[in-house]
Amino acid sequence: MSRLVIVANRVPDPKEGGATAGGLAVAMKDALANREAVWFGWSGKTAAETGTEAALARHGRTTFATLDLGHDDYKHFYQGFSNAALWPVLHYRLGIARFDRRDFAGYQRTNLAFAQALAPLLQPDDTVWIHDFHLFLMAADLRALGCKQRIGFFLHVPFPPRSVFNGLPHAEKLLEALEAVDTIGTQTEDDAENLRAALIAIGKGDVAMRVGAFAIGIDATGFAKLAAQRANAKEVVRLRDSLGGRSLAIGVDRLDYTKGLPQRIAGFGAMLERFPRHRGKITFLQVAPVSRGDVAMYRALRRELDEGVGRINGQMAEPDWAPIRYITRAVARPTLAGFMRMARIGLVTPLRDGMNLVAKEFVAAQDPADPGVLVLSRFAGAAVELDGALIVNPLDPDDIAEALDAAMDMPADERLDRWNRMWTSVRAGSASIWCRRFLSALEGTTDVADAGQA
Ligand code: ADP
Repeated sequence: MSRLVIVANRVPDPKEGGATAGGLAVAMKDALANREAVWFGWSGKTAAETGTEAALARHGRTTFATLDLGHDDYKHFYQGFSNAALWPVLHYRLGIARFDRRDFAGYQRTNLAFAQALAPLLQPDDTVWIHDFHLFLMAADLRALGCKQRIGFFLHVPFPPRSVFNGLPHAEKLLEALEAVDTIGTQTEDDAENLRAALIAIGKGDVAMRVGAFAIGIDATGFAKLAAQRANAKEVVRLRDSLGGRSLAIGVDRLDYTKGLPQRIAGFGAMLERFPRHRGKITFLQVAPVSRGDVAMYRALRRELDEGVGRINGQMAEPDWAPIRYITRAVARPTLAGFMRMARIGLVTPLRDGMNLVAKEFVAAQDPADPGVLVLSRFAGAAVELDGALIVNPLDPDDIAEALDAAMDMPADERLDRWNRMWTSVRAGSASIWCRRFLSALEGTTDVADAGQA
């Protein structure tokens, strides 16, 4: 079998078991166990200049090849164009995107530097799979350097309607670069349709035909097992004891403005106001570790949340009960799995999300004998598959409030029925299946149109 070359902004640290690259490392685990592979990308470190030669480290059958980012590229490629322009636009938030031509120059420079450092490592029959919005241009740069390998590109985040996307300066350059890609994957059929329409509008109908939807999943049985094992772990028992018999609602997100955290907190507050019989009966735990703390929008969000949580707790708390517990430190994954299992309600209400793996993790974590209820945003990619959730519009606090009220009162047989439907789909769409589907489309064994949701 030919080698698989994974290219992503972040490369997992083999010593940390892949924690730094998150869900992608989980999704790639089976593929990496079965064939020779290279994982290429940013080391996570900065230096005076972006590296020109990748540092190599071998672990099992995988070679990890990493480059440090120069300070300028970190500022313009990573913080600037990737995180302050592309991220908001791809999440439909044109109004908060920040553009600077120096950022786009840094984005072009870094995509090219990645391609130049990867090209000499490639063998003729390698399959190259490039991931996500940081690297729209890289396939075209590889082609310009003479690389003839099969190249796939997967966009983990949403792709908005073209009227939104085209608000991004240089939008057309990003689309044109996709000409170099053989198979282009998105999370949902809506994203695929939006991307196809944008390509067709610039005369790239041939490229549009290479776009397909491939919904990413989690290691479902692995996460279920983890949650069951941690059900009586020390931290989990401590949390349970502290609740004094009250129900737990849980939210687990990176602290990001796409996650709808202020709106979620407002929705929880609205529930307590409109349905006072739940006061003192439920505690909402939000775990939201700070991410991208050096981007201005993220600092503003943090202040907004501190204020929102403080206001509701100040208004609603009793001497022996605070409605919201809010943690901005990271919590270990196994502990989170145990927390999710204990929760009666999972609150996953992003304003826009490519997939949202937390929604799937919450489903996997439930006790099959007494499962909790998932309250899920209709704007998460996961909503396509998880129709057993209570689907809400996260912009409407009353909608969240009503779903919370329904979840609190939901009888056991309905909870079980809804959870069974969700668990069936979470299991069927596991991470390793996603990886296999994309690779079979890229490597020519399945047509892209059939490979996605099959
Ligand atoms: P995103 O990729 O935008 O962060 P996802 O929901 O798709 O959102 O994936 C997030 C991943 O990170 C999940 O696997 C989730 O369990 C993990 N995660 C999110 N928040 C935390 C947290 N507070 N502590 C530890 N892990 C977290």
